[in-house]
Amino acid sequence: MRLTSGSALALAALLVLAPPASVQAQADRRLDDLKDEVLEMVGADEKMVQEIVDMLFSFGELGFQEFETQSYLTGILADAGFEIELGIAGMPSAWTARWSNGTGEPVIALGSDVDGIPQSSQKPGIGYREAILPMAPGHGEGHNSGQAVNIVAALNVKELMEREDIDGTLLIWPGVAEEQLGSKAFFVRDGVFDGVDVNLFTHVSSNFGTSWGQSGGNTLVSAQFRFQGETAHSAGSPWRGRSALDAVMLMAQAWEFKREHLRPAERSHYIIVDGGDQPNVVPQTGTIWFFFRETTYDLTMESYDAAKLMAEGAALMTGTQIDTIMTIGSAWSGHFSKPVAEVTYGNIERVGLPEWSESDVALANGLQRELGQEERGLNTEVGELRGPVDLSRSLGGGSDDIGDVSWNMPTVTLRYPANMPGGPGHNWANGIAMATPIAHKGSLAGAKVQALTLLDLFLDGETVDAAWSYFTDEQTAETVYTPFISATDQPAIWLNEDIMARWRAQMRPLYYDPDRYDTYLEQLGIEYPTVRPRPISEDD
Ligand SMILES: [Zn+2]
Repeated sequence: MRLTSGSALALAALLVLAPPASVQAQADRRLDDLKDEVLEMVGADEKMVQEIVDMLFSFGELGFQEFETQSYLTGILADAGFEIELGIAGMPSAWTARWSNGTGEPVIALGSDVDGIPQSSQKPGIGYREAILPMAPGHGEGHNSGQAVNIVAALNVKELMEREDIDGTLLIWPGVAEEQLGSKAFFVRDGVFDGVDVNLFTHVSSNFGTSWGQSGGNTLVSAQFRFQGETAHSAGSPWRGRSALDAVMLMAQAWEFKREHLRPAERSHYIIVDGGDQPNVVPQTGTIWFFFRETTYDLTMESYDAAKLMAEGAALMTGTQIDTIMTIGSAWSGHFSKPVAEVTYGNIERVGLPEWSESDVALANGLQRELGQEERGLNTEVGELRGPVDLSRSLGGGSDDIGDVSWNMPTVTLRYPANMPGGPGHNWANGIAMATPIAHKGSLAGAKVQALTLLDLFLDGETVDAAWSYFTDEQTAETVYTPFISATDQPAIWLNEDIMARWRAQMRPLYYDPDRYDTYLEQLGIEYPTVRPRPISEDD
């Protein structure tokens, strides 16, 4: 970052000389100048971006257990003068960082997910499966990069706001346990975003992009069904036992029969969390965990209600009881702000994609070959600004609980190009780029866009108002947000505790040490890129 007072003086001079009619033109010119300046400032922070990206990658923390991430990021933000609140909305690993200037209006929030993926530990920069610690968690989606985007943007914009006396508040927040769809509806319910004018969310991708209107994401509810039976000796007196595992399996089987009759957009999946302890003891407890995804709230609730009836049936058939049905995660399908998306997209076009090196492209090609995908390297053209999706034609897909935020205040998701195309998602392959120059450059480019959009929102005098007009008059004119979670549901903060307890001691010595190593690649001794040699074949 650097300090200049040039643009402030230039503006003061213009204000004295110019007639009032051109005040708007001066404001526009001031905004343009500050945007030029912030691009240079963010560009000079590539080291900071790289350190944050590499550090979070090395923590590899799973949902609700993002404690190293929390202490590292809030440390940076506290040093920069932000007011930190830890443990918000009843989640020990969650936090906010707030900084205000002048009147404190408008309030712009900046969010991005921070959690990893189980069993996805992977050496960065190597184009095939090679774990840092086999079976350990890792960043097999790329959630290690979004906070660098937001924080570096915010710190530079803060500097300009102080120098130029720009009113406003910056509120930085983490998407905790996004993989469990576990936090954002609680943040909304518990008032974390009260008073926020616009929420700028950002998510890793292999390209720049943003969209407005109804998104194609599925609505989701995640619930655990726990059955209670009675133990008995499985050989000596099995007739005296009542198996909770039987109930779990019958419920799963019932859902498999229902699957034939689901709409194409439906996605549903489950795991058995508790199926007993050992075969010779009839399982007294059993738990099955479902995700139900459909396009709308009503359709998703239909699935959930059907599953509750199946649980009752399974309990009746097995002589067990339903102990608890716990809603532990949820997501509305997102609807994004047209005015803010248009401003964001203008900034995407201005920043453009990073210049990829030969090594970057070689890594992408090498991985794509490894995965049996068409070799297509890295994206070189930004995508289109996407508009509303017709949900009646949806073929379904993933979900993000940013949807709940988007139905409560104007929100956009900026996708930034820090990953490679071709991975299956939630996989070691999606972690390979995430502590390499691809992630560093893509996140830096994302930070530039985010900084430009912040300046637009603080200074253009129209986008925040337009965003609320769109939100009130169009987006929510006919749709009422009904949360899946009740007033008393609690976040599932116990999730992943056992997995992280098993791995932390082994992962800790492998945390990135920026005092000793320039990059995490260097610390791990990885030559960038390392890919399997291309077979000598007809394509050369
Ligand atoms: Zn994600």
